[in-house]
Amino acid sequence: MKELIFSTNNAHKLSEAQALLEGKFALKTLRECGITEDIPETAETLEGNALLKARYVHERTGADCFADDTGLEVEALGGAPGVRSARYAGDEHDFDANNTLLLKNLEGESNRKARFRTVIALILGGKEYLFEGIVEGTIIDHMSGSKGFGYDPMFVPEGDTRTFAEMSAEEKNAISHRGRAVAKLVEFLQNN
Ligand code: IMP
Repeated sequence: MKELIFSTNNAHKLSEAQALLEGKFALKTLRECGITEDIPETAETLEGNALLKARYVHERTGADCFADDTGLEVEALGGAPGVRSARYAGDEHDFDANNTLLLKNLEGESNRKARFRTVIALILGGKEYLFEGIVEGTIIDHMSGSKGFGYDPMFVPEGDTRTFAEMSAEEKNAISHRGRAVAKLVEFLQNN
């Protein structure tokens, strides 16, 4: 079976992608190919960061690989926190602090429109490809639910009344930004 490196050490992301690629590709993590350092994410866009992470791995291994980057884009905040979603409230990557800051910055705001956007950068046979997954929704004015992670307790996807944190992993993956981007990657890999 063909091998593909997923530029992540996040076990949850890996198993999600591996399930979709079952029988076609065997995914390897960064650790499994000896990359233990943090890969710099210094670009100003999701596309830039996904490419940085994929190129870093490709340069060191020469192997086919892909990387993802995700952001929450809130319309009333001009697209923030966007590429800074993980460190919105500081470099500690603290989900609670990020959520509290987002609630505060949206206090009294009637436009609650937001979307999650994931970009995947794939390097296959030395060529670069980008795939995007988007889920539109709204940010509610409190936190609700205990599943998922990150901004999930405040994000209600279009067409539902529950937050992502109130859904099962299967329900969320079926409509999520990452699920949609991975589905595009899988379709491409199956045809190439
Ligand atoms: P990453 O690029 O996947 O590491 O995501 C960057 C940041 O976006 C995370 O630290 C979370 O704050 C947020 N994020 C990414 N995906 C999700 C999600 O599915 N639900 C909620 N927050 C997310």
